[in-house]
Amino acid sequence: MIFKHPSKLRNSLTRTRQSFFGRIAGLLAGGDITEQTWEELEALFIQSDVGTDTTIRLVEDVRQLVARDHVHHADQMQGLLKQQLVSVLKTSEHAYLQNGGRPLSIVLVVGVNGSGKTTSIAKLAWYHQFRGEKVVLAAGDTFRAAGIDQLAVWAERLGADLIAHQPGADPGAVLYDAINAAQSRQADVLIADTAGRLHTKHNLMQELGKIHRVAAKQIPGAPHETILVLDATTGQNGLAQARTFHEAVNVTGLFLAKLDGTAKGGIVFSVARELGLPILFVGTGERAEDIAAFDPEEFVEGLFE
Ligand code: GDP
Repeated sequence: MIFKHPSKLRNSLTRTRQSFFGRIAGLLAGGDITEQTWEELEALFIQSDVGTDTTIRLVEDVRQLVARDHVHHADQMQGLLKQQLVSVLKTSEHAYLQNGGRPLSIVLVVGVNGSGKTTSIAKLAWYHQFRGEKVVLAAGDTFRAAGIDQLAVWAERLGADLIAHQPGADPGAVLYDAINAAQSRQADVLIADTAGRLHTKHNLMQELGKIHRVAAKQIPGAPHETILVLDATTGQNGLAQARTFHEAVNVTGLFLAKLDGTAKGGIVFSVARELGLPILFVGTGERAEDIAAFDPEEFVEGLFE
């Protein structure tokens, strides 16, 4: 299927591969493993946004494997490194909308404005439509008139139904209506936007908590996913923001937008390890079809090929 097409995920890594990870591949191309090899590896990880804690941990783990297996040449180390990188990404793996078969799945999308939230909602809609599913969108970010308009443009383009109220309306009421509409139109998936800018964590928790309750009241077990959109180009700052959202609401997975726009794809590792959340999708461009399901092995292979 197209969304699983390997080249989409791999192509989004072009910049990352050409910069830091390309140099890691170069470092591992030959020669004996020395103290300098470890120092360079550590520096390249940090420069590609793997994050200090995750880098230290990764390098330590690979060092142990190298000692255990009596590896002396850098070129023999690549397999061990890849194995460790994959395992970081796998610790938090979970299948998107697992245990399917329910009549209507509710997907909440959270994240700060500018992260690529609206575009990522359109991509998720595209993904479901591609699977032959009927999608309804809910314009739950009622603080932002432009956000509602932008979502309406995507809905029109994709041929998906959109439920929207006036700017400033109660987001809980929008979701309530959207769930009713999705049920009566026999939709398979409802994807709901949520407020992207709230001044304090307390506000954020209240607002998102209310949305959760509205969903759960109408459909037991809902929301079935709460996806946090994170801008891959914002690096460690984005990670701090993500933490705030994760503390405010029970996020179930990440949509890492704009992976194609950064040379620092190492962010994926710090996000997975430090938030303990699975990366479900990545954004690979600006169009609705520029979405790739995340796959740890393929991602790691794509960094080095
Ligand atoms: P929002 O304010 O969070 O809703 O963000 P938008 O969805 O409006 O996106 C902000 C900008 O990022 C727009 O110019 C999008 O086209 C762009 N964008 C979003 N996702 C991606 C992506 O995966 N790759 C690239 N290259 N651009 C993206």
